[in-house]
Amino acid sequence: MYHLKNHMEDLVREALFDYLKQYPLKCMCERCQADIMAYALNRLPAKYSVSQEGEVFTFLENRNLTNQTKILAEIANAIQKIGNSPSHPVTDDHQTP
Ligand SMILES: [Zn+2]
Repeated sequence: MYHLKNHMEDLVREALFDYLKQYPLKCMCERCQADIMAYALNRLPAKYSVSQEGEVFTFLENRNLTNQTKILAEIANAIQKIGNSPSHPVTDDHQTP
């Protein structure tokens, strides 16, 4: 059994967490975070690799400054679109600290 993994997803998730630590959003629920990730990932190149069942994915190639800059730019872009107008109604109940 072989597995496909898009490493860009991990890179975007990490970058988004770092970003949100510095600049919290109006709504930081899982839905909004997933929307932001989807938006950014659709605009970034996919970085797939294949591994066999049980094998650990190793992927360090793309941890360079150029990629990091592109990723952060797309996240900032996504946050502008989604962070300011969440795809769900925002009530106080839905906000997470
Ligand atoms: Zn939300």
